[in-house]
Amino acid sequence: MTRKYDVIVVGAGPAGSMAAMKAAEGGAKTLILEKHRLPRFKLCGGGIANWVVRHLKVPEDVLERQYRVLSFFTPPSYERHDINLGGLGYFGVYRDALDYYLTKLALEKGAELKENTCVDGVIRKEGYVKGVTTKTGEKFEGDVVVACDGALSTVARKCGMWDVWFKEKGETWKDQMVFCLGMEVRLGEKVVSERFGDSYMIFTGRDIAPMGYAWIFPKRENVSVGLGSMAKTLEKKPTEYMNHFIKNNPIASKLLEGGEVILQKGAWIPIRNAYKPSYTSGLLIAGDAAGMVSPITGEGVYYAVRAGMDAGVTAAEAVNSGDFSAEFLSLYQERWVKSVGNILDFQDQIFKNTVGKILALEDEKEKDEQYEKGFVEAFNIFVSVIEKYAQQKKETPQATTQKKP
Ligand SMILES: Cc1cc2nc3c(=O)[nH]c(=O)nc-3n(C[C@H](O)[C@H](O)[C@H](O)COP(=O)(O)OP(=O)(O)OC[C@H]3O[C@@H](n4cnc5c(N)ncnc54)[C@H](O)[C@@H]3O)c2cc1C
Repeated sequence: MTRKYDVIVVGAGPAGSMAAMKAAEGGAKTLILEKHRLPRFKLCGGGIANWVVRHLKVPEDVLERQYRVLSFFTPPSYERHDINLGGLGYFGVYRDALDYYLTKLALEKGAELKENTCVDGVIRKEGYVKGVTTKTGEKFEGDVVVACDGALSTVARKCGMWDVWFKEKGETWKDQMVFCLGMEVRLGEKVVSERFGDSYMIFTGRDIAPMGYAWIFPKRENVSVGLGSMAKTLEKKPTEYMNHFIKNNPIASKLLEGGEVILQKGAWIPIRNAYKPSYTSGLLIAGDAAGMVSPITGEGVYYAVRAGMDAGVTAAEAVNSGDFSAEFLSLYQERWVKSVGNILDFQDQIFKNTVGKILALEDEKEKDEQYEKGFVEAFNIFVSVIEKYAQQKKETPQATTQKKP
């Protein structure tokens, strides 16, 4: 049986829920299709921008911890640089709780949700995307499909977008991705508070992984530990780098002492600039599915939320005007370029001028030696921008950088 909607959103992550919320708010009959039952676990550092928390009124019980200080450890001695984020602060969340809260916002606006439904194909008619099919053979027709199905988006791939974004440029999707390994370590609330307080931590250096970095983001009782590296530069199993980091890094090993690993999982993050075009006739693509992630920090929730909203607003307008052409839907790209594209472009420029130049070196040995320098440089530039921004915020104490032994 085929069911008919105005807007079909694939994926109930931050991008999908926000797209569905805005589409339903704009009067469109909207369906979210999600392959898991909600709330679902999502591997993530869970460091969420203040804007998301304030703008969407994320409730206290979803917020595990507030971060006021970004602590940054650089080789060779892993000196600590503390950046006081002031009122800019980030929050530590678990994504099952945050994402489910966002989905419920969409449902409150009238969107429908179908869980346990894995989309495996698209319906096309006369050059327009007109719906999706599922693994169990169901068909859902919609005038606008919004692909928010994450980094390895089935919908974007089935619509030929990977050919446009990667293949036609002589690249593969792996050239755009960082492979991450994440684990949850239980330390208990008292220990987490004593060791981390309101700091969350990032570590760089080739001792961690080639072209990689690591993080420790404390939650209430546990800490999320992660390590990411460009897929093509991994020389060993990711678990080997992780074991080396948690056991041998002079800082991390002490911070995690006595902890119990309760979960370990791998996932991909797209870390090159957001893919364009992010639309075609009958189709919009948002969040990780369209590569909207900071190439420097791997942060993506904020960008997914903002672009998801832009997609939902545009989808509702398309429904109300009866125009689903690529030309009309290009409005979406204009919107997200303004809301998040420019800041992503800026970060991409920093990335290209630092890490990018080193990745382009032909001599593998030189590349390996220079990488650490490039990555630290990228972070330093980015961090100085954050500091300036934090200083401009009137309500915040002055942002400072201190070095601690
Ligand atoms: C290890 C790691 C750490 C990270 N840490 C941070 C961080 O600290 N802060 C931050 O801001 N960002 C972080 N990110 C990035 C962040 O997780 C993503 O940018 C964000 O989740 C993007 O949201 P999204 O809605 O686009 O996609 P997702 O959150 O990936 O949601 C996609 C949804 O689509 C569903 N889906 C997938 N395929 C199908 C299908 N075929 N049919 C139906 N449903 C489908 C999935 O189940 C999922 O619910 C991290 C990512 C990783 C991998």
